[in-house]
Amino acid sequence: MSQAPVLYETHAHTLLCGHASGTPTDYATAAGQRGLAGIFFTCHNPMPHGYSTEFRMAEHQYAGYLEWVASTRCQHVGSVDVRVGLECDYLPEFEPWLSRQITSAPLEYVLGSVHPQYSEYGARFGSPDGPGFFHRYFDHLALAAESGLFDCLAHPDIVKIVAPDRWSLEACRPWVEACLDRIAATGVAVEYNTSGTLKAPFEEYPGVSFLREVVGRGIPVVIGSDAHDPTRVGEGFESALSTLARVGCNRVSYFLGRSRIDVGVDEALASLRATG
Ligand SMILES: [Zn+2]
Ligand SMILES: [Zn+2]
Repeated sequence: MSQAPVLYETHAHTLLCGHASGTPTDYATAAGQRGLAGIFFTCHNPMPHGYSTEFRMAEHQYAGYLEWVASTRCQHVGSVDVRVGLECDYLPEFEPWLSRQITSAPLEYVLGSVHPQYSEYGARFGSPDGPGFFHRYFDHLALAAESGLFDCLAHPDIVKIVAPDRWSLEACRPWVEACLDRIAATGVAVEYNTSGTLKAPFEEYPGVSFLREVVGRGIPVVIGSDAHDPTRVGEGFESALSTLARVGCNRVSYFLGRSRIDVGVDEALASLRATG
């Protein structure tokens, strides 16, 4: 029998992001059916200078996003705990913009992301065929942690989808280890994102060997599905929790009011409900 809900879906988008479907209510309802205590909405943040506009709400939609999540929270009181978050694109030059954006709203959870698959990133930093591409990505990820802007870093090895045939942790190990050492020194968490299984090389972000390096450094781990569709809420959480236990991690984290809360992996696993 399932235990009381203890885990949250920490990473979900809505139709405001342009490439996702579903209203906040659709996602919140799915979270309740999945045996989750709550759900965070982490839509892509508005960015300056037309940065990847097709993947995010516009600046003038931001207040409406916050109100939409707040009203959804009211609708689900007593059943699913709905919280507002944001997934922010990080590059060093955006720090002042991001700082103003994050402090201007009552966000409960802020994800920092580097998306090397965006054409704007490629235009600035080249392709995986060029020199230093992977090294530069992991430096950006470490800088995101060191910026102090974020609670958690999303999909930490997503750079692998840019060149799945060329990606290997072993080839990037010196940069990955240096990056994770820097992240560990900040106390910022790292996400274990189950949506990686949808794209080549078809494994979570990060892969198991990378995850071992995260866990071995005592970096807190947050599980999220990166749902762009309500049917994906909580997807792959059982497998992710089992893998965490296997690599020696017995706690999984989420943030409320930007403060970290830890839950036992066994307890989280027992609380989930299968759907469909
Ligand atoms: Zn992302
Ligand atoms: Zn996302």
